[in-house]
Amino acid sequence: MLDRIREKLNILADAAKYDVSCSSSGGTRKNTNKGLGDSHTSGICHTYTEDGRCVSLLKILLTNHCIYDCLFCVSRKSNDVKRAAFTVDEVVELTMNFYRRNYIEGLFLSSGIFKNADFTMERLLLVVKKLRLEQNYNGYIHLKTIPGPAMN
Ligand code: SF4
Repeated sequence: MLDRIREKLNILADAAKYDVSCSSSGGTRKNTNKGLGDSHTSGICHTYTEDGRCVSLLKILLTNHCIYDCLFCVSRKSNDVKRAAFTVDEVVELTMNFYRRNYIEGLFLSSGIFKNADFTMERLLLVVKKLRLEQNYNGYIHLKTIPGPAMN
């Protein structure tokens, strides 16, 4: 079980490193409900490795499966790469565990599109909802929105 999570982490953190829009500044979220953590517009340290990853955030894809085939993208369906997908609960648990251990200051979450945009966006939002409302997590979240989901 742990080995499978580790394997998913390797695949989905590696796939996420190509997204360079990684910055942990710009948001303030005060801890007011005895939850865990604060985020500030400043004071959050973000360090970039030489290959572009921001190491203070858990930077992952929910999945690198994708129904589309954008030529520039490493997750395009025609690309012959290892595929994986986290469950919603796996992302929540990883984020909380890493945050408590002080490995990260926040979560950067994006995703390939599996099934359709609605299905994928629902799962991304469920991660955020569980972190904020069930875990009282007040740390930083950078959530990429999926183009094309229904607005209602
Ligand atoms: S839809 Fe997004 S994840 Fe899928 S191939 Fe295009 S850029 Fe990559």
